[in-house]
Amino acid sequence: MPDQSHIAMTAAAGSVGDKAKRGVSVARQSRIAEITPIIARVGSRNQLVVKVTSEDGLVGWGESGLSGREGSVAATIKHFASFLIGQDSRNIGRIWQETYRSQYFEGGRVLTAAMSAIDIALYDLLGKRLGVPVYQLLGGKQRDVVPSFATSMAKTTEGLLKDIKLLVDEGWQCVRTYPGSFDDKDVFDPWSTLSKTAEELIAIRETFGKAICLGVDLHHRYTVAEAASFCAMMPQGTLDFIEEPIRSETPEAYASLRRMTDIPFAVGEEFSSKWEAARFLDAGMTQYMRLDISNIGGFTEAMKVAAMSERHYIDLMPHNPLGPVCTAASVHMSAAVANFSWLETRQSPAEALGYHNDTLFPKQVKMVGPNYVVSDEPGLGIEVDEDELRKQDPSHIEAPHLRRPDGSVTNW
Ligand SMILES: [Mg+2]
Repeated sequence: MPDQSHIAMTAAAGSVGDKAKRGVSVARQSRIAEITPIIARVGSRNQLVVKVTSEDGLVGWGESGLSGREGSVAATIKHFASFLIGQDSRNIGRIWQETYRSQYFEGGRVLTAAMSAIDIALYDLLGKRLGVPVYQLLGGKQRDVVPSFATSMAKTTEGLLKDIKLLVDEGWQCVRTYPGSFDDKDVFDPWSTLSKTAEELIAIRETFGKAICLGVDLHHRYTVAEAASFCAMMPQGTLDFIEEPIRSETPEAYASLRRMTDIPFAVGEEFSSKWEAARFLDAGMTQYMRLDISNIGGFTEAMKVAAMSERHYIDLMPHNPLGPVCTAASVHMSAAVANFSWLETRQSPAEALGYHNDTLFPKQVKMVGPNYVVSDEPGLGIEVDEDELRKQDPSHIEAPHLRRPDGSVTNW
């Protein structure tokens, strides 16, 4: 059955003794009774959705972001449940600290993906308990709608121009290409793809003029030298942002690339803490913060990274490639921060990925043209049909293992 469990708590007048008793009873009702990870095949990917239930039967939903390693994250969530059950679900900040710091080896993407899902679910739960949308818990709305940017995955210039015309006609102001140029044997040749991608982007800019924001996601497939050559192929003003040209373990490598190009960088979807984000922000090595609420540590950590980015006059451009739970959480966060440009969408007319299945998720954040409409319903404003979700057997999914033409490993 769809989750219908949102209940607003109402305060009633009473004596000091009554209030004290009521406080104890609310604390008891708010205790976490169950934390359940569910892995389900939705569209072309698996989604890891987490259900947190409190002792009074309220339910909160969250989603984890570490696509492709859902089993590891689910095991971590089950471990966290061993010490979170019985705790007050309203103590979200404290729970974040305890899950991050309760072992000697703090942090890491598996742990923070698990923490993210739990943190999002706790916010959903608290919003339902108080009868308010999550954005109210984050300081209220700073914008009426949340604009999105869309992606064309087309592999030819004609396909890209067709997709982008469709998007521009439907109102999109910001578009991105994704040059997934590898063959059916998963061989990726950096040099031939660089020149092809450059020609495609030049054609898009010539066709659509200066009015659109145009980006490209290079999916950290290049070396510093290759990325620098690509940037040199871009006439001034062609590209508004270049996403992950290189891997992000070493901010100093971005500093090296920065010295060879003036194209803004968009980095951050793999970050799993404020500390990781700080190394890029403080060094000026990203101009858009691509944080992913399902990876970085949920609302608790995302709002801190948003504030750190605001200090550097950098807008969030959140990563949002998952399902309706992550999308709803990203929309509430995006509504509540001052520094925001566009939220990634994978629901545009140019993509049909099936991640937002409305049988499995009967209530979702609505889109009007390129804009997400911020829900005023309690919590995240979504419903999950748990029975249907559990019927979607997760299949083993592995991202392509790309090779360079000489057979050596390169990133997908
Ligand atoms: Mg990306």
